[in-house]
Amino acid sequence: PTERSSLIMLFGATGDLATRKLYPAIFNLYKKGNIKDHFAVLGTSRYRFDDDKFRETVKKSVSEESNDKKLIDSFIQHFFFVTHDVTDLDHYSALKDKADELDKKFKLGGNRIFYVSMAPNFFGIVAKNLKSQGLLTTGNGFNRLVIEKPFGRDYESAEELNNALSASFEEDQIYRIDHYLGKEMIQNIEAIRFGNTIFEALWNNRYIDNIQVTLAENLGVEERAGYYDNSGALRDMVQNHIMQIVSLLAMEQPVAFKDTDIRAEKVKALRSLRVYNVAEASTNFVRGQYGAAVDGSSKEYRKEDGVPADSNNETYVAGKLLFDNYRWSGVPFYIRTGKKLADKFTRVDVVFKKPLVDIFSFPQDGNTLLSPNVLTIHIEPEQGFSLVVNAKNSEQGFHTEPVNLDFFENSQRTQATPQPYERLIHDVLKGDGTNFASWPEVASAWKFVDQVRRVWDIQQPMFPNYIPGSMGPIAADELLARDHREWVYKL
Ligand code: NAD
Repeated sequence: PTERSSLIMLFGATGDLATRKLYPAIFNLYKKGNIKDHFAVLGTSRYRFDDDKFRETVKKSVSEESNDKKLIDSFIQHFFFVTHDVTDLDHYSALKDKADELDKKFKLGGNRIFYVSMAPNFFGIVAKNLKSQGLLTTGNGFNRLVIEKPFGRDYESAEELNNALSASFEEDQIYRIDHYLGKEMIQNIEAIRFGNTIFEALWNNRYIDNIQVTLAENLGVEERAGYYDNSGALRDMVQNHIMQIVSLLAMEQPVAFKDTDIRAEKVKALRSLRVYNVAEASTNFVRGQYGAAVDGSSKEYRKEDGVPADSNNETYVAGKLLFDNYRWSGVPFYIRTGKKLADKFTRVDVVFKKPLVDIFSFPQDGNTLLSPNVLTIHIEPEQGFSLVVNAKNSEQGFHTEPVNLDFFENSQRTQATPQPYERLIHDVLKGDGTNFASWPEVASAWKFVDQVRRVWDIQQPMFPNYIPGSMGPIAADELLARDHREWVYKL
């Protein structure tokens, strides 16, 4: 691997995300040689830590990644800590001095990554102060800003945030994290589509009947109730992850497999997504909130710790998306996501049209009708594809039956797959923005989602409306039944 060099200045270095995900990710890059001698992590937060205490934290957080004590010890020598309140301008000069010192010590070439792993209300403040306090490199090195989610809570606040960031950073220096884009099988959508004639040639409204995207969780809100009750499934999952997956499925072939070309196509696709008026949003979207388990083994959402007893927050969303363009006109994209569903998985089902004429339908012989071909992309937990095709069964007479062509990564390879944060940090080091959300994408997604939100804000829902362990409210099945369709994955 090519060794990348940079300073990683991490804001929120003592937080949950940093300790659970970011240090293991950076360690794995180190283990594989993507970073080696010329990198340093400058952690900051309000904690009164010193380098040693910080290194202990990092050591603990990477302990499960390797048994090689020497490797871990050499890794943590690259970690430094400065106590710092991001809102206090006086604190930035110490940070700048330390950054300059580390740059010399590790020969970082002036490269700087600023990773803001803090509550979103700090994103803009940090970006502004980094520039005004002279922390951006002015030499030959790069400046890159990494921003966690959520990126706003509607179009207006997202635009405000974006304006704040772009006062200090150019769009191509901003890396908005959507960790779904770091997942192996999401990245595989492009490989499946553009690497295979048999799919891409059929990838349009002549041959595809509908596409379904499901992000199911089996847990409830757990400890995140405070945050979640102010956000809900539409903002938390649809605006970002689902819209990103949908745009990868819907986009035209990029000129080349590189970030600027791919982003351009995703933006184009999202711009042709039909933004609903009130009536359309109300018929094409379904929301849900989970009730208690029938056997009493789990509480309803409104009784969870930290959730108001009259909360109208949705823990489930299903919807129908339509693209007004030549490729997709008339093909619905059905999406759904929710908490406390039957299982935890993410999958995409591409349902092809049936042959126009079914010459095998001999009702007098009791033969069943042909099934549609369905390409399923299993994103997690298993990684793979399956394709349903019709074949003759081996019995006497002529009967067709659907058979499955499957490919699943074996569990060893699945386990060895780099975790999203490892991939994404590597991309930032390389300066590759492919797997990050660009501003025009984020903006289009908010404009779409805001219309749905607007309707929901004025209508009173009938909550709770689904039971834990199901696949959501009945209305989500009716959404498809109205179109004479059904969910491919059902209980
Ligand atoms: P956290 O509350 O655990 O950590 C916040 C960090 O910010 C702490 O280190 C804290 O000391 C520091 N901090 C707070 N105020 C400060 C100030 N004024 N000056 C300097 N430092 C200050 O939060 P988290 O869970 O690690 O989340 C960080 C970001 O990552 C958030 O944007 C969150 O939405 C996002 N995120 C988190 C997760 C997760 O699993 N935790 C998952 C996805 C996205």
